[in-house]
Amino acid sequence: MASVFDNAKSVIERMVRAELRCGREQGTVKLVAASKMNSAERVREAYGAGIRAFGENRAQEMGEKLRLNAYEGAELHFIGHLQRNKVKNVVGAAELIQSVDSEELIRLIGLRALSLGITQNILIEVNIGGETAKSGIPPEELDKLIEIAAGTDGICVQGLMTIPPVSEDISSTRRYFERMYNLFVDMGAKKYDNISMKFLSMGMSADFEEAIMAGANIVRVGTAVFGQRYYA
Ligand SMILES: *Cc1c(COP(=O)(O)O)cnc(C)c1O
Repeated sequence: MASVFDNAKSVIERMVRAELRCGREQGTVKLVAASKMNSAERVREAYGAGIRAFGENRAQEMGEKLRLNAYEGAELHFIGHLQRNKVKNVVGAAELIQSVDSEELIRLIGLRALSLGITQNILIEVNIGGETAKSGIPPEELDKLIEIAAGTDGICVQGLMTIPPVSEDISSTRRYFERMYNLFVDMGAKKYDNISMKFLSMGMSADFEEAIMAGANIVRVGTAVFGQRYYA
């Protein structure tokens, strides 16, 4: 089995190739290693290979690894479903909360950020496939949520995130990525106050190169860096 170190090096190389293939400058796409279910030690191994941003899904697990200084020298993102009662643990600890999809979360994150005297950077998660029982806001409700976020103190929206429907067919995934990119460009053209459409986060182990081709500038890669996760 390949080591985390070797895997991480190879993902970094694949990213550079994908960037160059679509005429983008090397290093313009941010690699966020999705480190759920992987120990602080394995996170440090990925760091040693050059990974400088990590994404966690669960507030508690993130807290445990923070206490072990797992992310030292790296950026930390929150990429999972954020429960209301965990907002207090994540705001301020994560540079970017990628997975915000409701008015209530925006309000709670804003309040917590104000109480800490900070501005919390967030992305709005879009349910681009319109799947029921999936997190993310439907594209047609995005305008409204962005307007709410723009009017909320303590919050700065920096872009969009999505997890497209799982598909064996890469051309169908590519269509979702393209729709997402169009939405991202449309939103950027609207020039809301307090909103910058700086980041488009999409693409995972199976499709991060496709996502880069389609315009992503953040990819979230777990398995290709850390290997298969074994759920207990
Ligand atoms: C786990 C996870 C990823 C990475 O998935 P892989 O297929 O293992 O690369 C990306 N985004 C989110 C939100 C995740 O939870």
